[in-house]
Amino acid sequence: MMQQYIEIKAANADSLLFYRMGDFYELFFEDAEVASRALGITLTKRGKHQGEDIPMCGVPVHAADDYLQKLIGLGHRVAVCEQMEDPAEAKKRGYKSVVRRDVIRLVTPGTITEEKLLDPSEANYLMALGRVKGTEEQLALAWIDISTGTFRVAATTPERLLADILRVDPRELIVAEPVYHDEALRPVFDVLGRVANPQPPSFFDSSSASARLSRFYGVATLDGFGRFSRAELSAIFGVVAYVEKTQKAERPPLGRPERDEEGASLFIDPSTRANLELTRTLSGQRDGSLLKAIDRTATGAGGRLLAERLTSPLTDPKAIGERLDSVSFFLEEAPLRDGLRELLKGVPDISRALSRLALNRGGPRDLGGLANGLEAAAAIAALLRDKELPAELISALSQLTALPADLAAHLEKALADELPLMKRDGGFVRADYDAELDEMRALRDQSRRVIAGMERDLVEETGIRSLKIRHNNVLGYYIEVTANNSQVMTGTDEAKARFIHRQTMANAMRFTTTELAEMETKIANAADRALTIELSVFDRLVSEVVAASEAIRAGAQALAVLDVSAALATLAESEAYRRPAVDDSLDFHVEGGRHPVVEQALRRQLGEPFVANDCDLSPSDGEKAGAIWLLTGPNMGGKSTFLRQNALIAVMAQMGSFVPARLARIGVVDRLFSRVGASDDLARGRSTFMVEMVETAAILNQAGERSLVILDEIGRGTATFDGLSIAWAAVEYLHEQNRCRALFATHFHEMTALTEKLPRLANVTMRVKEFEGEVIFLHEVARGAADRSYGVQVARLAGLPAAVVERAKEVLHRLEEGETGGKADRLADDLPLFTAAVRHEPAKPKEADRLRQALDALNPDEITPKEALEALYRLKAFG
Ligand code: ADP
Repeated sequence: MMQQYIEIKAANADSLLFYRMGDFYELFFEDAEVASRALGITLTKRGKHQGEDIPMCGVPVHAADDYLQKLIGLGHRVAVCEQMEDPAEAKKRGYKSVVRRDVIRLVTPGTITEEKLLDPSEANYLMALGRVKGTEEQLALAWIDISTGTFRVAATTPERLLADILRVDPRELIVAEPVYHDEALRPVFDVLGRVANPQPPSFFDSSSASARLSRFYGVATLDGFGRFSRAELSAIFGVVAYVEKTQKAERPPLGRPERDEEGASLFIDPSTRANLELTRTLSGQRDGSLLKAIDRTATGAGGRLLAERLTSPLTDPKAIGERLDSVSFFLEEAPLRDGLRELLKGVPDISRALSRLALNRGGPRDLGGLANGLEAAAAIAALLRDKELPAELISALSQLTALPADLAAHLEKALADELPLMKRDGGFVRADYDAELDEMRALRDQSRRVIAGMERDLVEETGIRSLKIRHNNVLGYYIEVTANNSQVMTGTDEAKARFIHRQTMANAMRFTTTELAEMETKIANAADRALTIELSVFDRLVSEVVAASEAIRAGAQALAVLDVSAALATLAESEAYRRPAVDDSLDFHVEGGRHPVVEQALRRQLGEPFVANDCDLSPSDGEKAGAIWLLTGPNMGGKSTFLRQNALIAVMAQMGSFVPARLARIGVVDRLFSRVGASDDLARGRSTFMVEMVETAAILNQAGERSLVILDEIGRGTATFDGLSIAWAAVEYLHEQNRCRALFATHFHEMTALTEKLPRLANVTMRVKEFEGEVIFLHEVARGAADRSYGVQVARLAGLPAAVVERAKEVLHRLEEGETGGKADRLADDLPLFTAAVRHEPAKPKEADRLRQALDALNPDEITPKEALEALYRLKAFG
């Protein structure tokens, strides 16, 4: 057996091997050590290998899902190895034969389908990276959710690779080994950690792949498949090969790959995604994220669709408008919406049940769930019929009406009201559905009555009132009498012949009789036959369901769309959100905007109400670029909140949601960048300042005129003058080069002087009131510049010792006196605009020519140090 184990393990070296032995999965050697530590189960020994004890641990089969969940959660992969024959079969082959075993499935984070292992509100993506090296490197990503059948593909570039991966947030990323070890892409895989999973290059190879793909989809040619680049195909192949490797014989019902067109969704770079806390907070919690604050969906599938829309907002105003139309519709039709939401609450996770059934992992409850789902879908379709629906909902309704009605009826007719979890438990087929099944069940039940009669007769015959006929899995049916009554059964030869002894217990003896044994066989046969019939009914129902899988998946998606639209309408109503106008302009005009998460938190804490603020970055007349707001104000004044709320309003508007504002008009944003908060990245050996600069560099290098940029306190991580100069130059560059809409918060008051030079820059400040030496934050954004920073007052609020606060006031006073003359004004006058230098030619051509000539005349090999120095002075004079 160990030899078999070692062979199987060698073929699955990167997974923990769950080796089936009777009612347990057992793990050996290092696997046992890893698993016992991870699962907190006892590590024992079993037998010896090369003279050493073999470490072992085991988990019971019936509880395996819980253990799998834990291991998968920790990033492990598990190979499940089953017994492929009855142990009795093996015995027939010879005393020493080992039961045949085989790995039937690899359980990996990206390929799970079990309800217990999945989070209902999160998609579970498996992604593959395809790369083709030619004259130009081509990269592409393909991703699937096995649990729902989604299959997408998109081209990418080395620069945006990480952002594109994090947008989808896969549980597992499959990469060809050479790509995984490519230095240039290393940083991406470092960030992903265990999510990145190197696989053989052959998986991504196109030569065998098209055959594999046709086999997978059961089609003769891939002509109808759409046009994909070589890199896209390579990624698609990678996904399919990995699914084949992990799922072995079974085929999940994947849809055909669909391309996410480049630019169709709002590009959000990784740090912005994290900083804006869209789906999780910076510390990884879901509570406190935007998603949590806006999620009012009633179903798991709806929750997943909402998350998807939030992480990939659109850029096409028309498509955004269509989603908003659906929300408007449900906002107006409140009773209809309530009726719909009530029905949705009863809808199970249809697409996940479908996938489990197709993968031969489903149970009767999955069929039952599908039946309920189909029934609810019909009721929902009836609710929406004859209503004047907007476009998106019309197509959702048509998906619902396309669902196979006869399938629902058939499932309803075939399935019992109460369903067992496992099909092997039987009892899930309704009476009256199958005549032979009914007959077998009657026989079985009748025989049970006969046994009860036998028991009565035996009590009478033997005079033992406590005699019982019982049943267990080892003996089957048997007669049991207490030890002190056993004499009756064994006292005479006659009795001995009639009562065949089976077992002696401490206080009891067990017997059987010929009639009882016969009856037992009859019952067992009937029960066996009944189960066989039930299992074949199950298989028939599953194949009927799988045959309709395309329609069912579309229907499930339609229900998710309805759920999301109705949920966003509910949200808009309860939170007083308004419909944004999204168009092709470069406007960004928000009146009475609020931060969706902070607003709700303040309300929960019964604190002061959230103060709404306007923001207008729209181009002024005649301008072809949006404005930049330079926001000053004391710490704790609400600067970060204001910056983030405007970014979130843009995201929400473009995902097709109403927004927390009295009015919002937004010219579509194509890329959103932010540099907010100071997050240390010490694990990668970067200081706060370095991280800040890397992120700022990314923004300045990439932002374009349709971008929205949020910059909070750059230059904070370094010495004042360094910081100020960097912040100063960054604003100039944004204004002149990127020409994007931007919000820039700073505590460098000197920068407010920049408005004199930069026409599209405006100063705004967070208002504060001073009252008897204390600051009161009003959280109001007002035009103009803050007169001072109130840092000392804030320090006092924070509880710095009074002596320190007093001393600080003194020092501040001195410093301020020494600075009369206005350093900032000087700076604004003296410095030429950095960007001006970039935009104009670096030097006048004539001067440059003369410089060139002078340089050419020099021969460094021949001159003395003194001549060199003189030459340097001469050259310097040209500048
Ligand atoms: P800053 O970035 O200026 O240091 P924050 O944006 O972090 O300030 O805000 C500090 C606190 O003030 C927040 O925790 C929030 O509770 C509160 N706050 C901010 N903006 C508002 C607002 N508009 N209305 C009410 N409270 C606000």
